[in-house]
Amino acid sequence: MSSRREPRIVVIGAGVAGITTAHHLDRAGFTDFVVLEKGSDVGGVWYWNHYPGLTCDVPSEIYQFAFAPKPDWSRIWATGPQIQQYHRDVVEQFGLADRIRLDTEVVSTVFDDVSGEWTVTTSAGDVHVADFVICATGVLHNPAYPDIDGLDTFDGPVVHTARWDDGLVTAGKRIAVLGTGSTGVQVVSALQPEAASVTHFVRSPQWILWAPMHLPAVPGVARLFRAAPAIQDALHSVLLKGAGILVDVVTKPTWRRRAVQKYAEISLRAQVGSGALRDQLTPDYEPLCKRQVLSGSYYRAINARNTEVVSSGINRVVPGGIVTEDGRTHDVDVIVLATGFRAHDYMRPMNVVGRDGVRLDDAWSDGPRAYRMTAIPGFPNLFTVLGPNSPTGSISLQHSASKTAMYIIAWLERFRSGDVDQVEVTEEATAEFNAQVAEALEPTVWNTGCNSWYQTGSGIDLWPFDRRTLDRMLAAPQEEHFVVRRSGIVEAR
Ligand code: NAP
Repeated sequence: MSSRREPRIVVIGAGVAGITTAHHLDRAGFTDFVVLEKGSDVGGVWYWNHYPGLTCDVPSEIYQFAFAPKPDWSRIWATGPQIQQYHRDVVEQFGLADRIRLDTEVVSTVFDDVSGEWTVTTSAGDVHVADFVICATGVLHNPAYPDIDGLDTFDGPVVHTARWDDGLVTAGKRIAVLGTGSTGVQVVSALQPEAASVTHFVRSPQWILWAPMHLPAVPGVARLFRAAPAIQDALHSVLLKGAGILVDVVTKPTWRRRAVQKYAEISLRAQVGSGALRDQLTPDYEPLCKRQVLSGSYYRAINARNTEVVSSGINRVVPGGIVTEDGRTHDVDVIVLATGFRAHDYMRPMNVVGRDGVRLDDAWSDGPRAYRMTAIPGFPNLFTVLGPNSPTGSISLQHSASKTAMYIIAWLERFRSGDVDQVEVTEEATAEFNAQVAEALEPTVWNTGCNSWYQTGSGIDLWPFDRRTLDRMLAAPQEEHFVVRRSGIVEAR
């Protein structure tokens, strides 16, 4: 049996998943780990996204780390800048800053079959040799740029919301916004009051649940939480449990789902009076099928005099504007692309090469595929946090990240004690898990006939189970689902 040794660990990414992982590694006493982050700050999606109107549509009381409750959120639904500051504060408060290398982009991570080590290389040419690699690289990371004829010939600025230019002047401008997801709805609402005009190009309208997104925090609550943190912890637990209703609504076709869907229809009817405009904004699929949008201001913005909804498809972009299929030219000064993300490009464009020289791009040629969101056959000692099938549409991401980090740590502790050298999930266990997922996805609302970023082409990349199932699946590694190597001896399971 090997002697006790400290694993060398590289974590890639310092967003929600990376910060969670770093915290748990630190708390479990691991000393040889580094977090490599390509951005100039921590926060992941909250660092990269800073477009006007950015707000989290999950209440802050549950959109935070259970290990770092913030007593004084100023609003029920915090803004992007507040959330970004929270991530910075958590990193400082928990002494993680020294572990994180900012402006450090990983370009490749390659497994050596002989030594059993991973070689992680950055764009600056630095090399980190690791026993374990943990990819916390995010889901909504790579912006999707639309392929529209003439887009590069446009005279004015073209900006993707996920790469917003803070120097961009939008006040007094004629602005085109493409995209009607959570982002498009937020950015239209934010830009409309000061713009000369906003033309919203709506390829597929979204159902939008009305919610008072600007509601301030309950007065006095910060004082209460500071004086009695246990009350906030208890509230956090209650809300996490209560959020189970959301899982129920999206995964089971019950009256509760129908009630929420009715509310979506009422939200539209109550706020959009005109028949023609309402027709333009009425989706042809069930509410909740796409990632649900919440807003208290979009329909007000879209009813304003300086706003127009354009449903005709985009034909091409010309230097002065956008030409639609109906032959109209829409003269605009700025084009805002709220066109979403390549959500299934986990870890890419990194070159990830596993056992026997298998490239992740080839292993995943039919779409991303993992075991319980975290392990991939052919890639020993490599794990993902918030990887494929993560519950981006139902369960707290911070909770999922924590559970996954603890699951990985169970393996790391066995490495540290000399009990294992290498672990690799089996193809059989991965296939079985994916079959369970496919079956459980059938009655979900995501499978009721819409296109969305949840879809991979070969399936739906979401977690179709409840939180208890997630907790149970990640409670402890099941050794029979892995090939375990000890001191060079392979133990086939
Ligand atoms: P998204 O939901 O994927 O929406 C992209 C939009 O762009 C869709 O309306 C799509 O139309 C449209 N589009 C794409 N290509 C187009 C083209 N060539 N011409 C015209 N329209 C085009 O992206 P997102 O709004 O950035 O949101 C992604 C996810 O980020 C959300 O679902 C949510 O999970 C997260 N998010 C969360 C918050 C929050 O408050 N927590 C805020 C923003 C984003 P089709 O539908 O027709 O494809």
